[in-house]
Amino acid sequence: MTMILSRRAILAAGALLAAPTPLRAQGAMRLLVIGGGFGGASAASFARRSYPDVQVTLVEPQRAFVTCPYGNLLLGGERQISQITHSYDGLRARGVTLVHDRAAGIDAAAKTVRLAGGQTLAYDRLILSPGIALRWGAIEGYDQAAADVMPHAWIPADGAQTLLLRRQLEAMPDGGVVGLAIPGNPFRCPPGPYERISMIAHYLKRHKPRSKIIALDAKEGFSKQGLFQDGWRALYGDMIEWVPGNRDGKVVKIDVAERVLETEFGTRHKVDVANVIPPQSAAALAAETGLVNDSGWVPVNTRTFEARAAQGIHVIGDANIPGPMPKSGYVANTTAKQAVASAVALHRGQTPPEAVYFNTCYSHVGENYGISVVGIFRPNADGTAITEVPNSGGVSPRGDLPEQRRAEAIYADAWYDSITRSMFG
Ligand SMILES: Cc1cc2nc3c(=O)[nH]c(=O)nc-3n(C[C@H](O)[C@H](O)[C@H](O)COP(=O)(O)OP(=O)(O)OC[C@H]3O[C@@H](n4cnc5c(N)ncnc54)[C@H](O)[C@@H]3O)c2cc1C
Repeated sequence: MTMILSRRAILAAGALLAAPTPLRAQGAMRLLVIGGGFGGASAASFARRSYPDVQVTLVEPQRAFVTCPYGNLLLGGERQISQITHSYDGLRARGVTLVHDRAAGIDAAAKTVRLAGGQTLAYDRLILSPGIALRWGAIEGYDQAAADVMPHAWIPADGAQTLLLRRQLEAMPDGGVVGLAIPGNPFRCPPGPYERISMIAHYLKRHKPRSKIIALDAKEGFSKQGLFQDGWRALYGDMIEWVPGNRDGKVVKIDVAERVLETEFGTRHKVDVANVIPPQSAAALAAETGLVNDSGWVPVNTRTFEARAAQGIHVIGDANIPGPMPKSGYVANTTAKQAVASAVALHRGQTPPEAVYFNTCYSHVGENYGISVVGIFRPNADGTAITEVPNSGGVSPRGDLPEQRRAEAIYADAWYDSITRSMFG
């Protein structure tokens, strides 16, 4: 990758640029954050708000962040890409130093990060939130080139993948078949594929009502299943067929040229538009730094989010293994705050604060039709596990409850506005 740092960014990052042999900071604590998504932007923003004496630098290659949340509404025709794209100007105004480059390597012993553009940044504590990697080849025939034909739309980057899937839905004839391949656990956003099915159905019902959706799932059940299926029946009739893993739903092979999704027992599903969500792991940087275990994800101390394999590196967001907590933007946001508070406390020789973590995942099933799941979690005393607080969470009630569904759709929009404001404002 070529050097993309502007002169202003280099000057701004000057205080962090490492000398050949980095010296231990004598002045302000240097908190370096890698990845400007749900975890990283939340961490940078929270650190500036809560610890004005801490120097915060955020490394992120993209100039603006396109959120996964509400990407499904773009597919449904309910949002434009500009409404889910957020600039980093608010973080800059808050005093965060932005470096638009890719972290290419971490030296945990020297406490330095090498950037693809050639710079080396030194830190006192590192917050790492690089998100996920797609496991190309885990489904035979599905590689990076295949994603240009059959989009995953699961890592938005500049939004191109989500827009490609949207264009394909628009180009599909009425009466066409949309096929989805859905992975086994764990993966980013457990309710995400089912909200996506809903939003695609929402679009098809209005524009191509003779079309079908076949959702091929490696799993036998999914988050908010009863609520989703109630909504599908009520809003979309028999448009959606969901095939679980125990009924040959697991896609193992893709024929891109023929537009065929092939399942474990050899059933070949010919489709007009395919959305392939492949199995996932922690982003490449976490693996290259030696932070992941055999699962492909990063084990952390559940009280501080410090990586088990490296002191001083706190791994938040989807890259870690958060026990029973889902890989969600809300969890990335709430754990970012605990990781920052812990990083600052540990740097100062203090005890990290007690933690409690929250999650609420809203899903849109149709117009004015929202559902949710809530969970509250606590780490155990030695930071080896997290458990859900008994009787603390739950899902929306089932039944014919139009006012409840309408209210939850409004709450969902409010959640999106408030979390993105807390990250980027
Ligand atoms: C379709 C869909 C819908 C979703 N809906 C919801 C929802 O309604 N509610 C919810 O709570 N969650 C939702 N999620 C999940 C949510 O998007 C993720 O859990 C969240 O984005 C994880 O945050 P993160 O910081 O780990 O990763 P990300 O938000 O993906 O951020 C990672 C950042 O790191 C950067 N990066 C990667 N590698 C490097 C590197 N080497 N150097 C520098 N930067 C790097 C990337 O450019 C990226 O900006 C949804 C996900 C999907 C796919």
